[in-house]
Amino acid sequence: MAKFKVAIDAGHGGFGVTPGKRTPDGEYEWNFNNKVAVACIAKLKANGVDVIRTDDPTGKTDVGLTARTNKANNAGADVMVSFHHNANTGKWGTWTGTETFTYLGNWPKAEKLAREVQNRVVKAYGLRDRGLKKENFAIVRQSNMPAILVEGGYMDSTIDIKKLRSDAVLKAAGIAAAEGILAYLGVSSGKDAVVPGDTSEANKPVAGEIYRVRWSWGNAESQKGAFSDLANAKACADKYPGYKVYDSKGATVYQSKEKTAATGNAYVREAQEFLNSRGYPTKAKFKALTVDGFTGPKSLTAALRVGQYYGGVTIDGLWGPNTKKAMRTLSKADYTTWWTHLLQAALVLNGINVDIDGVFGNGTEDAVERFQAKKGIAADGIAGPNTWEKLLG
Ligand SMILES: [Zn+2]
Repeated sequence: MAKFKVAIDAGHGGFGVTPGKRTPDGEYEWNFNNKVAVACIAKLKANGVDVIRTDDPTGKTDVGLTARTNKANNAGADVMVSFHHNANTGKWGTWTGTETFTYLGNWPKAEKLAREVQNRVVKAYGLRDRGLKKENFAIVRQSNMPAILVEGGYMDSTIDIKKLRSDAVLKAAGIAAAEGILAYLGVSSGKDAVVPGDTSEANKPVAGEIYRVRWSWGNAESQKGAFSDLANAKACADKYPGYKVYDSKGATVYQSKEKTAATGNAYVREAQEFLNSRGYPTKAKFKALTVDGFTGPKSLTAALRVGQYYGGVTIDGLWGPNTKKAMRTLSKADYTTWWTHLLQAALVLNGINVDIDGVFGNGTEDAVERFQAKKGIAADGIAGPNTWEKLLG
């Protein structure tokens, strides 16, 4: 019988090669992901499965997402599993749990794989079961075979970090994931693995203070640069109106000068900055917004387009039933960072001032309720399809 081929992916790259993606203490996500991947690979190989690794096993480069899925597709892998660890705000908090993602829509095979893996890794991490989720992640979208992405726990959680800093837990998680993959493939997992030690570059803590230039501390992907010299960080921030310089604890030490006198509403400017960030104008096909603090149809259409991009539906800037179905329902109990950024921006553009930080806390819940009450729909603080329709439809 032909051997099964499994593509294993540790998300991102190691020390110094990936912006963002780290704990508030400066540990890199890849180093956690790598330890899970190494154990998973050892267990799979011990049980006779071929493995293709799609990230750089040295951690020295951050392989592009398309290169990763191309590698798995070209090798004809039977399944693809990508290991990640979550970050919420980038500051310590008490959010917690393990979740596994498949691509949007109905894909029973991928969902079965996700279930087999999630059920086992939850036990290995010993964290809250956040369940199976669907998201428009490139790694699960672009792969031809059933593919999943595991978010083992939060790097910025005071609860989860204790598990993530334990090599024994990460090894157990990798072995548990392998057992789930083997169960999915119908292969016995009886043979034990010898897991090699971590030979990747040491995850050295950053020496001295590092100043990061970002739109907001929680938005690690907005980072324009990281500097040991504050003057250089300020010079960088000045190129990006509204950007701030943060110290390694996330405190604001400098805010860039606005190019023009501040106009309009500061919350609306934040919403416009968010919509202009992370390559959204390109990804969601709109002309970058003028950050003027005034709400208008251009800003609202841009928000709708980003929602369509997130939801994986046709990006046409027109509200319709497919878009309504694709909008993610968000609540205090169940939300994701980027959808929450978008929700907060949409609330602001509808005249409800709320911080755009990607965290669905009491402030956001209250803002959703105020908006719902204003529109005469059930004020339950949960942003579901009807709320999205009132916001962007
Ligand atoms: Zn990640």
